[in-house]
Amino acid sequence: MVSRVIPVEPFELVIFGGTGDLARRKVLPGLFRRFCAGQMPKDARVIGSARTELDRNGFRKMVADSIKEFGGKELASQAELPEFLECLDYVATDARGDKGWAELSAMVRKELVNAFYFSVAPSLFGDIAERLKRHDLADDTSRIVVEKPFGRDLASAEELNATLAKHFKEKQIYRIDHYLGKETVQNLMALRFGNVMFEPLWNGKYIDHIQITVAETVAVGSRGAYYDKSGAMRDMVQNHLMQLLCLIAMEPPAQFAPDAVRDEKLKVIRALQPVQPHEIVRGQYEAKDGQPGYREEAENPRSFTESFIAMKTHISNFRWAGVPFYLRTGKRMATRASEIAVVFKALPHSIFEDNEPDRNVLSIQLQPNEGITMDMTIKEPGPGGMRLVNVPLDMTFAEALGPDAEEVPDAYERLIMDVIRGNQTLFMRGDEVEAAWTWTDPIIEGWTARNDVPKPYEPGSMGPLDAHALMRRDDRNWREVKG
Ligand code: NAP
Repeated sequence: MVSRVIPVEPFELVIFGGTGDLARRKVLPGLFRRFCAGQMPKDARVIGSARTELDRNGFRKMVADSIKEFGGKELASQAELPEFLECLDYVATDARGDKGWAELSAMVRKELVNAFYFSVAPSLFGDIAERLKRHDLADDTSRIVVEKPFGRDLASAEELNATLAKHFKEKQIYRIDHYLGKETVQNLMALRFGNVMFEPLWNGKYIDHIQITVAETVAVGSRGAYYDKSGAMRDMVQNHLMQLLCLIAMEPPAQFAPDAVRDEKLKVIRALQPVQPHEIVRGQYEAKDGQPGYREEAENPRSFTESFIAMKTHISNFRWAGVPFYLRTGKRMATRASEIAVVFKALPHSIFEDNEPDRNVLSIQLQPNEGITMDMTIKEPGPGGMRLVNVPLDMTFAEALGPDAEEVPDAYERLIMDVIRGNQTLFMRGDEVEAAWTWTDPIIEGWTARNDVPKPYEPGSMGPLDAHALMRRDDRNWREVKG
């Protein structure tokens, strides 16, 4: 298979927060991978910026070290590294002061595609946006990239949107949710809208329920005090799980075009029903084997913040009436795995005596390995009579497309290339974010008003027992997700 990597046009990308964790861990190693793949052209430039005083060579060394640390030895030993480092520059700026802005403005080649990555705390978004305009760095064709958290409730998200809207039009704003950049998530759209056989079954007549699990084994660790102000609902459900739910539930858009897709996602969010208290289970991991528990890491012995949440929700529309969506996510769980499972209904009648076929399950795995499988019932081979077995039909693209298939790019790499191409399909629109908070806020307000105390759970488990009871009450079970 001939590689289908098409280089993007030359660009200037300024990374504010260029010395920070996200830039070093994800953005810069990701750009290097795109450079090696031939997608980032040699005359593109990436300019790091932060308050730290560094010269060009100091930044290049920092990036080379980060590629080694976070991209792995193999990536760091690629012959293209010196050429990539040549594309890097650095200007120290203060988002809240005048330092460096004139120099940065003189450096940026304004005739190229200009993108500005705000890899900084959201409290700096307004300052940077205002200075980009004041110093004539950005015009109506520039793009800005912003990260989560996009607000902590509806009011703060509206304020953030309004701040950015003072300086940039919606079509210039790229709100990253890196889950949308995952290959399998996009494949879900290809599967649903590029094949004839799924869409007729994609509704409450054939689908019993949907499960979305995002399980992490890591603890909150040194981020404890910060995490304690958000919790799993704000940190994961309002954004990542919500986006996955939208892609599963949305109607087919008229075109695969940014606003057509985002309009359909928005309709899903607006159709989400309020969640009742008995449909929510919140948890906090306990201490175990000398490892601190959540409250110790959060340095808050009376913390009511959840490190785990499981919930059931419904979408009030024709397609999904009566189909529960079960969501769960947490820290310090048994395995690191993210999966969306579409569990189909049982057959109306089995013709095989004593041999009930299992239900069909379409399982979309997002991490650690990306892939899609469909559990199907077939006859066990051999002469032993009509014995049925459940086997996964594997739709993992890397295997299906063979050894020449392009290496699956990391979500960040893909999304940054989309920014340069000017394609907003996989980015959240401002109204989507606000709608997600509109649904989230009353849920959080509800448990706050009830003084709900999260249930303790054992680290290395799949959350509190109540989370299992939530499913069992409905005569269902969580799937065993594999890391
Ligand atoms: P971080 O490691 O604390 O980095 C913050 C960056 O901002 C540093 O480069 C810092 O450099 C710069 N900075 C701080 N104050 C500044 C100012 N007044 N003017 C100019 N630069 C300033 O944070 P991070 O983890 O990279 O996160 C960045 C953003 O991405 C945050 O909004 C975070 O929530 C979000 N995010 C991060 C991750 C992740 O994996 N890290 C994942 C998802 C979202 P100086 O101190 O040198 O100025």
